[in-house]
Amino acid sequence: MRFHQLEHRFVHSIPSTIEPGVLYVSIEFATAIHLCCCGCGREVVTPFTPTDWKMTFDGVSISLWPSIGNWNFPCRSHYIVKANRIIEAASWSHAMVEAERERDKRTKAAYFAGQPQDSQPTEQPMEQQNTVARPVDDLAARSATSGITGLWNWIIGKNKS
Ligand SMILES: [Zn+2]
Repeated sequence: MRFHQLEHRFVHSIPSTIEPGVLYVSIEFATAIHLCCCGCGREVVTPFTPTDWKMTFDGVSISLWPSIGNWNFPCRSHYIVKANRIIEAASWSHAMVEAERERDKRTKAAYFAGQPQDSQPTEQPMEQQNTVARPVDDLAARSATSGITGLWNWIIGKNKS
């Protein structure tokens, strides 16, 4: 893991250049973006919704929950953002990632049908720790299926500027 902490920055729109080591947070669009903490430079978008991530700001630092599983990136990095620090988490097996994707699909379907249930990711037993993770999804696929238009507008706005 190349970055062990992130500096948070509250922004209205995403700057055209995303600096490594910075977590950009937009309250208006209820989402955050940062470059993958492994150092690979991929953009990691973490929308805040009842079925995605939750952001906690204690006045000094930011925490995100659940952990961030970059299974769609070649690096497959997995970490937790806690009080602006990056805590590396164990890698998941393919079966664990698939199980979480299925659970996430069911939760989202129930949520958007107005029947919230089981909105927290399942705890997965780990060798060294218990953790939960949300996979970072492909943005295009997400916007088509999730109904998170705010996030999509944010991305479009970013590309326009
Ligand atoms: Zn990475």
